[in-house]
Amino acid sequence: MNAWFSDTHRLHSGLKEFSYGEWLDGFELPVRADAVKQRFIDLKLGPVLAPPDLGLAPLAAVHDADYLHFLQRAWPMWAALGRSHPALPMIWRAAAQTPDRLPRHIDGQPGYFAQDAECSIVEGTWTAACWSAQCALAAAADLLAGTRCSFAICRPPGHHATARAMGDFCYLNNVAIAAQHLLDHGLQRVAGVDVDYHHGNGTQAIFWERGDLFFTSLHADPHDDYPFFTGRADEVGAGAGLGCDLNLPLPPDTDGAAWLQALDVALARVTAFGAQAALVSPGVDTFEKDPISAFKLRGDDCPQIGRRIAALGLPTGYVLEGGYATAEVGANTVGVLQGHLAAA
Ligand SMILES: [Zn+2]
Repeated sequence: MNAWFSDTHRLHSGLKEFSYGEWLDGFELPVRADAVKQRFIDLKLGPVLAPPDLGLAPLAAVHDADYLHFLQRAWPMWAALGRSHPALPMIWRAAAQTPDRLPRHIDGQPGYFAQDAECSIVEGTWTAACWSAQCALAAAADLLAGTRCSFAICRPPGHHATARAMGDFCYLNNVAIAAQHLLDHGLQRVAGVDVDYHHGNGTQAIFWERGDLFFTSLHADPHDDYPFFTGRADEVGAGAGLGCDLNLPLPPDTDGAAWLQALDVALARVTAFGAQAALVSPGVDTFEKDPISAFKLRGDDCPQIGRRIAALGLPTGYVLEGGYATAEVGANTVGVLQGHLAAA
């Protein structure tokens, strides 16, 4: 199995966030991706490769042009004011605000393109986000070339990013970019399987009216946890995508047995959809010791996840999302891959 990784992720560091009413150091740390990479190397699961640069066109196939322009320009505009600390929104364009106008000043722009105050922008954010997306594209290219399984060590993660808004540590939606790349190169039906603790609201939003993209997510009930506004079971897609969205919200303290039962439900629907490839978002913040999770999965549940996904019999790209217990994120993430390889 190839793992795709870019050292540029470390440029995206020194992050801050406003969460739980507190000004905090970012939970989404460079050590996460480095730990996952090191575990993959230690277990000799395959080569760790730098992705080729497929340019901005695959990103623009998913994200709006003004949002991509903002991500590229935000730091230079912020730094031009003499600021060296991370950029965060100070005002949001809530849904009720009309007309819809993008402010010219940098102090107005982050809130136009942000869902929350957990996505700080630093000097290296755009570079890191671009290369994170290129890692996902490289994994998709592996599948197009006939490889059965590939792994993108994406950092920053992507599943909360919509076509035009960053959220919860995510700037570019790596899974959606990879899925669109597969469709643009001959596949007709692709499934996104989001096993992260949080609802993949960005992926759902991008897939919402798509009949060629199935999306399923197992996650904390949005009545209890982020992203709060989406992830309920009655959200099933719309238009051509009606019935192509399956949410399985789960209560606090969900353990491995209950969680794996829900995964079986999700995977049965992937098979029924007739997907030709699966893009999986692991997402090991379901772990019992994760600092921002209320689920109770243990380390030895992780290989079970990979085993079940392998049983789909589909070309599978794993695209790293969350997991904030930094001592265990490497073992847990790579544990999912070990389960897949053992069963494939
Ligand atoms: Zn998460």
